[in-house]
Amino acid sequence: MAKTLNLIICLIALCSSLRVDGHTGHCCSMGPKGYVADWRDHMFVHEYGHYIQSQYMGISFLPVVGVPSLLSAWCTSGWSGMKHNERWFERWANKLGGDYFDKKYGSKAPGYKENNGDYFNKDAFVSGKGTLYKNSRDIYGNNVPRPTSVNKFVFWDIIL
Ligand SMILES: [Zn+2]
Repeated sequence: MAKTLNLIICLIALCSSLRVDGHTGHCCSMGPKGYVADWRDHMFVHEYGHYIQSQYMGISFLPVVGVPSLLSAWCTSGWSGMKHNERWFERWANKLGGDYFDKKYGSKAPGYKENNGDYFNKDAFVSGKGTLYKNSRDIYGNNVPRPTSVNKFVFWDIIL
């Protein structure tokens, strides 16, 4: 129940770009304890992708991405035999977040050095191969793949 409530708060926060739970910046408090706004935390990079989505989509974010994402994490993806992270809005969030931080702190940032832990590693973000820098939460590390290509749609994408 607390998790569900947290997800709802997160979606509201994403839409209104509010500060929630004392976290500064634009993103939300979804995720485990100790979750911080830091590109070394690849979960944050993904969530920031949702924030960019909400900026693009304005009020339509909630019905088009927010609610389906919540339902997907909850049940619809399970019913469709599809993983939550395969849904188009999740992949798109990976793409937006990955590109954003690649431009600011990664291979497209001024002074970028390859194989250097001071820079965001978009390849590792996508592949989940791990990074030279440490995920500040250090719970899941950066070993979760976050693919950016959308190759599947499900029934729920049309009605929800
Ligand atoms: Zn997501």
